[in-house]
Amino acid sequence: MTGTASFQALRATLPPAKARLALRFVFQGLALAPEEFAARGHTLTRGEAEFLVRWQAEGMGSRVLERVASGDGSVRMVVGLADGERVESVAMPVGAVCVSSQVGCAVRCRFCASGLDGVKRNLEAQEILEQVVHARREMRIDRVVFMGMGEPTHNLENVLAAVAALKHEALISPTRQTLSTVGSVRAFARMAEAEVRPCLAFSLHCADEERRRELLPHAGRDPLPELVAAADAYGRRMGVPVQWEWTLLEGVNDSDQDVAQLCALLGGTRGYVNLILWNPVAGLPFARPRQERAVQMVREIKRRGILATIRNSTGGDVEAACGQLRRRARPEGRSVGSAHGGG
Ligand code: SF4
Repeated sequence: MTGTASFQALRATLPPAKARLALRFVFQGLALAPEEFAARGHTLTRGEAEFLVRWQAEGMGSRVLERVASGDGSVRMVVGLADGERVESVAMPVGAVCVSSQVGCAVRCRFCASGLDGVKRNLEAQEILEQVVHARREMRIDRVVFMGMGEPTHNLENVLAAVAALKHEALISPTRQTLSTVGSVRAFARMAEAEVRPCLAFSLHCADEERRRELLPHAGRDPLPELVAAADAYGRRMGVPVQWEWTLLEGVNDSDQDVAQLCALLGGTRGYVNLILWNPVAGLPFARPRQERAVQMVREIKRRGILATIRNSTGGDVEAACGQLRRRARPEGRSVGSAHGGG
């Protein structure tokens, strides 16, 4: 992004204190009006005021092209990017927004709509941040989950830059930001060094190495025990337990043997298992287990000494739930951006 069309332009053009204030206003959904600055003890010069008028017109590179409200209060937004690509984000009434980090996804989990067409490109940090701004225009947001379209560790530098900006400029604590990933030992090491570190959700889905590879065909080759140990070490360093995510697919990963393998793999780690009943995606050959089966599994996992819960997805009636965000067609019919499903 160049010219006035970026948050960077605000930082580069205004004196530091005014730039910080301007970014706060943007993230709070307030107008960049001279009166707002004056009310906080900052008088804008004429040049600064004119610059801000231009910035308001073109500073945000993305636009909400479509907004679909769910019966449960969630809002799925199709966000058009400056180059014509599209991604999806979901604002949820619990005060959270699920953001996308890539256009598409290269992991191509078999049960997820987001990776159906592979990956098109990474999002810039600003494109991630703008999804939060759009969501804040919908409702109160004080939590960000990187669980939309894309594998965040495949775009780690931009995601970490967004995490830091969300802390400093949107005033969202890193303990209220969660990065959801299929895992990579190298990525966990990089995250541990970051200036601002998000909480971690690890998308496990299967504790059997071979079957996990079939379900998550491009999730990387790190052995599961190493991945789990690295994720656990990261969570301990953060002081925030890891969420071990498990999308439940009937007849695929919901057996007693699956539970036993899961508990053996997680033995000695901190954190808690999140079971997510699969949200249907048209054309994909899976079924959602019954709620009672999930309840049984939670009971058995807890009996083995590991915390577990069932995560209720929101927005399923408008395809906004985990695994349902997808690349929507551009007007000219070309396949474009989507959003991920808990991966
Ligand atoms: S679940 Fe996540 S990692 Fe897997 S394809 Fe979907 S978006 Fe990508």
